[in-house]
Amino acid sequence: SGTFTYHFDTPVYKGTTALHTGLYINGEWVNPVQGSATADIINPANGKTITSVSVGTAADVDRAVVAAQNAYKTVWGLRCPGSARGRLLNKLADLVEEHQNELAALDALNIGKAFHTVLAGDIPFSIATLRYFAGWADKVQGKTMETNENKLAYTRHEPYGVVGQITPWNAPLLMVIIKIAPALATGNTIVLKPSEVTPLSALRIADLITEAGFPPGVVNIVNGYGLTVGAAIASHRQIAKVAFTGSAGVGRAIMRASTESNLKPVTLELGGKSPTIVFDDANLEQAVKWASMGIFYASGQACVAGSRIFVQESIHEEFLKRFTETAKALAGAIGDPFAQGSQHGPLISQAQLDRVLGYIEAGKQEGATLHVGGARHGNEGYFVQPTIFTNLKPDMKIVREEIFGPVACIIKFKTEEEVIEMANNTVYGLSCNVFSQNISRAIRVTHALEAGNCWVNCASTAEVGVPFGGYKESGIGREMGEYALDTYTQVKAIHVNLGLNL
Ligand code: NAD
Repeated sequence: SGTFTYHFDTPVYKGTTALHTGLYINGEWVNPVQGSATADIINPANGKTITSVSVGTAADVDRAVVAAQNAYKTVWGLRCPGSARGRLLNKLADLVEEHQNELAALDALNIGKAFHTVLAGDIPFSIATLRYFAGWADKVQGKTMETNENKLAYTRHEPYGVVGQITPWNAPLLMVIIKIAPALATGNTIVLKPSEVTPLSALRIADLITEAGFPPGVVNIVNGYGLTVGAAIASHRQIAKVAFTGSAGVGRAIMRASTESNLKPVTLELGGKSPTIVFDDANLEQAVKWASMGIFYASGQACVAGSRIFVQESIHEEFLKRFTETAKALAGAIGDPFAQGSQHGPLISQAQLDRVLGYIEAGKQEGATLHVGGARHGNEGYFVQPTIFTNLKPDMKIVREEIFGPVACIIKFKTEEEVIEMANNTVYGLSCNVFSQNISRAIRVTHALEAGNCWVNCASTAEVGVPFGGYKESGIGREMGEYALDTYTQVKAIHVNLGLNL
């Protein structure tokens, strides 16, 4: 299969990367079974093609499943002690650390997020995730149950076997690591499909997986499109569980595929329309900064984006004034991810650019006030200005639907009761951010909000040891933390007769 070499010669990073562009199956680089289809990988900062990579089909998923089954039965799963799995995960963490600049550069190139942001955020979080789950690998254990004197009853938390994993484009490396680390720690083998738009760092990680010493077939990476490779994973009868991060629509398709095949358990991390609530007793300066980061981070392409910002009446004007200043400052820092000082990158694709501009148009048509921004920046790449809407109504499209772009809706509220109702008026339930120096109020409100991840006086700061996941239509199951282990293990109950004779 092919290779891709790229020389970064930029103001913030100089270095070379080299990776394979084929499919990583059974520890080897192979071409797709059928045909020689490739997908162009686009640099969203300028719209130009970076390289092209192989795309597989269902036949390649079959091949990967055979490799994963074989590895599970011979060298992994219950055949491999947890401590050995943990050592390999730690080794992979060391390699990611060693190659952190290169991996950060690959993601920055592929998604347009500033190099220093990836290096300071996604990369250390990826390394910490690998080390965290490495630590769990030899601590996954069942329980003994008291029953009666004639019986020994206990549980084992066993891996599923071969698990399928499907990841999105907005944090390519991190999404792959968050998926593979707990699955490997608990002894599963993997068939993973990265987003076809952003496979580069996943392909680079494959070589590091080999270098770390993982046996062939433990991790298989089949790049390809959702409707072919993704659908084949979701409906595969020999894949015992599937974990997905992406849009709600595809999440539904994956559940249907499970229903119609082998009823494999499905965990879903989907989208959101998360509220940020700022009470009049908040530290305003801090609330403005966090709220701005909460929506504009990664140009709004974050599942936890705080896209509906509710501000209490008496501070609304002052908040808006200061928030507008932060949006304008960001607009002045729009740029190539490898330029000095860039803080606001492009959207991932032309399709996403069209979608976000479509939402902005819908906002104007439905009568919201476009307060600032609202347009494409420049005519190269897919940049959109930080945008603020005010004078919003609950039934407007931009208030209800996930935009996945740098569009903040600022909404005025009067009372605590009212804002809880407004914030919960959504099909989503991924996260919320609450700002108040009255900690009792902040906690009371947080408990009343329908969201899986709640931040008090901060926003979107995840931790490797803390579970992450959604309420309502934002998902099923939890990633990260000890809770993630449950989604990669099944419980076996064992009853042993110690002396009951019939
Ligand atoms: P997407 O749903 O379009 O694609 C995600 C993945 O699913 C890709 O790998 C894609 O190829 C694959 N896919 C597409 N159709 C499929 C099918 N029919 N069967 C199987 N797989 C299929 O999402 P995206 O555009 O890559 O990412 C954006 C979305 O992801 C947003 O809605 C965002 O909120 C969500 N997201 C959620 C989280 C979270 O943790 N909750 C994190 C990041 C992104």
